[in-house]
Amino acid sequence: MKILNFLAVGAIVLLTSCSNSDSQTAEDRMKTTPAASATMETMATNSADTGIVKVVKTEAEWKKQLTPQQFNILREEGTEAPFVSNKYHNFKGHGVYGCAGCGLELFSSDAKFDSGTGWPSFWQPIAANHVEEKTDAGVFGDRTEIVCARCGGHLGHVFDDGPKPTGLRYCMNSVALNFVKK
Ligand code: FE
Repeated sequence: MKILNFLAVGAIVLLTSCSNSDSQTAEDRMKTTPAASATMETMATNSADTGIVKVVKTEAEWKKQLTPQQFNILREEGTEAPFVSNKYHNFKGHGVYGCAGCGLELFSSDAKFDSGTGWPSFWQPIAANHVEEKTDAGVFGDRTEIVCARCGGHLGHVFDDGPKPTGLRYCMNSVALNFVKK
């Protein structure tokens, strides 16, 4: 079902790179509601939809925990430069890529492939409920943004020009990931 959604949305997406967008969705705005920021402490809530226990932190808490570059990518939907400084784009280790914000396992090296884009690319997430998709409306048209299901951190985008068996290309920012050898 998720896969079908990706295919349907991906079919109208012609862009093939990861780039930034200044758009803010209703879901983004909800993250900064007074209820979420008033406590000034980390909160965790259960999501009946995914079974993932959500991690919600204030902007100040994220800034304290993350490097400036991680904060830009994960919390401000930034996009990392491809190739040279992109630490996982040509990385071949066997293991699991977790979220740099909360540690949730996101992608297995078994699903990694060389997309030639300069960003680490995967044809499927490690579990369907570990990532969430959002419509990213930008000047070049709508794209499907991928965020961590636990902390909501921006990871990258998904496109429909990936290899078999899914035909999907999860184009991720290396800075948003932490590789753990297995
Ligand atoms: Fe996360």
